[in-house]
Amino acid sequence: MLALRPNCECCDADLPPESAEAMICSFECTFCRSCAEGALGGHCPNCAGELVRRPVRPAEKLAKYPASRERKVKAEGCPAAA
Ligand SMILES: [Zn+2]
Ligand SMILES: [Zn+2]
Repeated sequence: MLALRPNCECCDADLPPESAEAMICSFECTFCRSCAEGALGGHCPNCAGELVRRPVRPAEKLAKYPASRERKVKAEGCPAAA
């Protein structure tokens, strides 16, 4: 099951589970759309995999399967936008 992480690993922007701006890789590294499509060029900086839009979990399922609250931010930051 997707963890639905609460923030962008690069800029720490909030990405609530209903956000259409959340982008993830196959390992669930999570980024906001502006980082994913800008600085990251559509690829995860951790695993080099592709970043795709994170599906939104229906609200009634969130009650039973809540989103992760564990914030992850890359300590060394992300590459600056080209
Ligand atoms: Zn970001
Ligand atoms: Zn990744």
